[in-house]
Amino acid sequence: MRPTHLEIDTAIIRENLRRIKDSLPEWSTSTAVIKANGYGHGSVMVGRIAVEEGYESLAVAFPEEALPLRAAGIMVPIYLLGITLPQSFDLIVESNSRPAICESTDLAALDACAARHETIIECCIAVDTGMHRIGVHPDRALDFMQEVESYPHLSVDGFFSHMASADAADKTSAHKQTELFRHMVEMIRAHRSEPFRFSMANSAGLLSVKDSLFTDARPGIIQYGIMPSLDVPNRLGLRPALSLHSKVVHVQHLKAGERIGYGGTYTTDRLTTVATIPVGYADGYPRSLSNRGAVLIHGHRCPIVGRVCMDQLMVAMPEGVPVHPGDEVVLIGTQGDESITVLEIATLVGTIPYEIFCDFSERVPRIYV
Ligand code: PLP
Repeated sequence: MRPTHLEIDTAIIRENLRRIKDSLPEWSTSTAVIKANGYGHGSVMVGRIAVEEGYESLAVAFPEEALPLRAAGIMVPIYLLGITLPQSFDLIVESNSRPAICESTDLAALDACAARHETIIECCIAVDTGMHRIGVHPDRALDFMQEVESYPHLSVDGFFSHMASADAADKTSAHKQTELFRHMVEMIRAHRSEPFRFSMANSAGLLSVKDSLFTDARPGIIQYGIMPSLDVPNRLGLRPALSLHSKVVHVQHLKAGERIGYGGTYTTDRLTTVATIPVGYADGYPRSLSNRGAVLIHGHRCPIVGRVCMDQLMVAMPEGVPVHPGDEVVLIGTQGDESITVLEIATLVGTIPYEIFCDFSERVPRIYV
């Protein structure tokens, strides 16, 4: 087996999920957001734990992502957070998932699909309170609901909206979105007595935007122990569950003046021990860490020298630190007293932890401990 793997600590995931759930009022339901293969951690594994921890529902982006969850025997409602196009409507039924809807023009085809399968499709109305990605305007939510209900095979399960800037230090726009959603909820409740699901709070909302929790919480990144931004305090004491590991496969001792890797972008300035690690950008390890990132070997930070290749990268050993093929390498995580966090990597390459997680490719085995 390849020495490169992601290690995912299921006890930490469980503890994170439990702490989030415990922080919610009793009247709130929770939807665990496990799209993009559970932010790279494995959607089936995270979904199972979430259900065991009492999460009432799960959310993914599109119906294809719901299929493996159903195949694994997960039975709770699964919400689709993105718009599903008509060519995939059959998959909604096949995966028994609940689509996000906001387009009048799609309703007849969705209804016809449900009719063909002799079923009712439960729909969640997407409401645009300011993200301007998908959704009906809050003022149109009631009319749109009535329009949906005019179709015999469609039923409205609830309403959701997404927060654009809940993770910012300035909460002005988050409060504005929250107010718009609240106004809409009041309007729906003034006309209807059904216990609709009203879902808005994402991770940042839950941790830092008072009143963004309506009837349902929708946490994503915090389940994996990562804060949505530096402006959101980790007040629940959540911990990262994922680490990236490999092993040294080759060692060379190079004299000063040798150029390393594609394009020879690094030149040794002394007698340098260079270790080769079988991790590359095809694994989702960013190429932009070339000559910038580091890995941990024997508890020491070893800088990446030369360009990150598709399947391999090279590091320079600090003077006096011995290294041999087979030695353990930590690319994300802790070794001895040193740690490399996903935030450190994301910051170095100018992105966010979400993207680093999602980029880990399928060829990197996930090992659950
Ligand atoms: N809800 C929707 C519609 C989303 O798109 C996302 C993530 O992108 C989430 C909830 C979860 O967000 P977070 O991971 O920031 O909690």
